[in-house]
Amino acid sequence: MSQLILESTITCPKCGHQKTETMPTDACQYFYECANCHEVLKPKQGDCCVYCSYGSAKCPPIQQQSNCCG
Ligand SMILES: [Zn+2]
Repeated sequence: MSQLILESTITCPKCGHQKTETMPTDACQYFYECANCHEVLKPKQGDCCVYCSYGSAKCPPIQQQSNCCG
């Protein structure tokens, strides 16, 4: 079993604000509100969660190559 990265630094596409968040291992986060500009981020097309689209690390289910939100 490979090591999972549980922290991901999200970069807001609107204002560039960065914040490191701890990802849940059993669920995907679909919405994320930027702490700076309060833009509500949603995953890009083809991505399952905001961490996959905007984070420095993919979400844990993707790292494990399993289906998360289907
Ligand atoms: Zn922002």
